[in-house]
Amino acid sequence: MKVYVEIDQYSGFCNGVVRAVYSAEENLSKRSVLYSLGAIVHNETELKRLEKEGLRVINLDQMSHLKDSTVLIRAHGEPPSTYALAAKNNITLIDCTCPVVLQLQKKIAETAGQIVIFGKVGHAEVNGLVGRAEGRAVVIENKDQIDKIDFTRPINIFSQTTKDPDEFNQLCNLISSKMEDKSQLTVHNTVCRQVAQRHARLIQFAENHNVIIFVSGKESSNGRVLYELCKSHNPRTYAIQSLQQIDKKWFKEGDRIGVCGATSTPKWQLTSCAEFLKITLKNYICSKFYRIIYGNYSRF
Ligand code: SF4
Repeated sequence: MKVYVEIDQYSGFCNGVVRAVYSAEENLSKRSVLYSLGAIVHNETELKRLEKEGLRVINLDQMSHLKDSTVLIRAHGEPPSTYALAAKNNITLIDCTCPVVLQLQKKIAETAGQIVIFGKVGHAEVNGLVGRAEGRAVVIENKDQIDKIDFTRPINIFSQTTKDPDEFNQLCNLISSKMEDKSQLTVHNTVCRQVAQRHARLIQFAENHNVIIFVSGKESSNGRVLYELCKSHNPRTYAIQSLQQIDKKWFKEGDRIGVCGATSTPKWQLTSCAEFLKITLKNYICSKFYRIIYGNYSRF
């Protein structure tokens, strides 16, 4: 009897998060405390690790009371008002806005007329994009909210970088169907390429395994999207934030178990999950042959 555990080689931090976490670690090697405006990554376990190294997560209100300090801007980016606040309070910014998000912010600032953003209301990246649009943006979370759009005026639609590319396409088609003059709709496909590729690969991964353990922080919007994607292709998909949530009853002999996660899930957490499964299932399944396929190993 064989049981396999395979870690998805394409899961792990996206480039934007790797860059921000490396920058935080580098700065923490030179100082005992570093402030981060908002959680640098939507993953409680990774955050706790960084907090032990001296990272302090603050909100905008707490930042407004800081003076002459250093604050890290995470990969999601910030609206112009945050930069103005930093200048007013003599705060040095370590700006880790992902270059892909920076480009999107620039595009929105340069686009005239009505702007529609497909994204999560209140999400940090979306707040940054709305700030660049200077009052011209409407945020749509799903197709039920399209009544917020003025279909009689030209529409420029953008997507939050971590949204589901298929859902974005469906939304654009629906908006187009409501417009008399379809040439007035300009679609800016701004789903991050890394995220879009991950969707296609994750579908394959979910279909090629009997059980999927999806590791992600509960605040991660990318995590929610990718978990739903796995679940729709493999009903035996389980989301966990910590190893204690794993239930032995999810598994049976002969299972091929796939371990994957969001763009905010570090690789080391996926490896810990695979190792934990190995120990937990050993006696439960009494497997004679047990193998973990690690994929490309990297810390993140
Ligand atoms: S998902 Fe893409 S755009 Fe968003 S932070 Fe990661 S690399 Fe950057």
